[in-house]
Amino acid sequence: MGRVTGSLDDLPLRDDLRGLAPYGAPQAMLPVTLNVNENTHPVPQEVADDILDALAHALRDVNRYPDREFTALREGFAAYLGHGLARDQIWAGNGSNEVLQHLLQTFAGPGRTAFGFAPTYSMYPLLTRGTGATWLSGTRQTDFTITADNAAAQVAAADPDVVFLCAPNNPTGTPLPLEVVAAVYEAARGIVIVDEAYQEFAPRDERSALALLPDRPRLVVSRTMSKAFAFAGARVGYLAADPVLIDALRLVRLPYHLSALTQAAATAALRHADVMLSMVDEIVAQRDRISATLPALGFAPYESWSNFVLFGGVGDPAAVWQALYDSGVLIRDIGLPGHLRVTAGTEAETTAFLEALASVGSAS
Ligand code: PMP
Repeated sequence: MGRVTGSLDDLPLRDDLRGLAPYGAPQAMLPVTLNVNENTHPVPQEVADDILDALAHALRDVNRYPDREFTALREGFAAYLGHGLARDQIWAGNGSNEVLQHLLQTFAGPGRTAFGFAPTYSMYPLLTRGTGATWLSGTRQTDFTITADNAAAQVAAADPDVVFLCAPNNPTGTPLPLEVVAAVYEAARGIVIVDEAYQEFAPRDERSALALLPDRPRLVVSRTMSKAFAFAGARVGYLAADPVLIDALRLVRLPYHLSALTQAAATAALRHADVMLSMVDEIVAQRDRISATLPALGFAPYESWSNFVLFGGVGDPAAVWQALYDSGVLIRDIGLPGHLRVTAGTEAETTAFLEALASVGSAS
């Protein structure tokens, strides 16, 4: 039988999915890839060895379904996060994208709305629409910050079922003061999700929204092992919230959604949290080096508490992106006029990016 080819329009697709584009950051095999905010440092050998032992052990029982409640892993996350959290306040999934999807499946869905302050993480609208809910965009100030009063007023006016607060924000790197979280929570009727995917790259003495969890049963703080833990390929994300909210997520997850191998690998990695996180300081140093160097090249970086830098002053982002690509450096054109975003790499990768940008800078 021949292969049938056609377009999506020929399929009985859900009406609300027509015209949508999937997530599609380029995955190109270039020497220097700084486009999706990965940790460009590999897992340290001593940790990799321990993970391999844990995987070998788990493999012996892989004929059985895994622990549906991923008990050991939740205990590991509770211990790592501190703040007096216990395992019944923790949930996990295959990347924080899945954890966010569980939240939307539970609290959004057809006839409901989710809200975020644009520009923000591009998956929020896609995940929202995937559940049949409607995405509502709020606004930021021109420097991409948001203030407590303004944020609360926007949320009260939109009255969404779910609010996303990305802290620090992707793609801008902007810090989010805890007073904004508290004000938005008061103004919101629905679930408030603080996405702390990049929290480990913030200044050490800054408080996490985890500190606000007590007495806020609609507040959720999500995290990921993809960034600071250099574990993007393993797909492990997690969240902390009230035990009742965690219980609700069981309604939508697939049974045994976290494989025994994922649980074993992540639990082993968490036992070495200090070593896994040892590269964070080095990445922060490279991020700050990028921010300190860009003005001399004629670009305007924004304050970043993450592992990437957004910079403005780019005359023709598509042309600069292509020129960097042609010299073997992949960064991200996030579709913001006059802006590009780059992930902080190793020292050598960061040097390659800065040198390549210096040579194309005048052409921009
Ligand atoms: N939240 C934010 C703000 C992100 O930037 C990302 C990944 N780029 C994620 C969540 C999802 O990460 P993962 O699914 O790998 O945990």
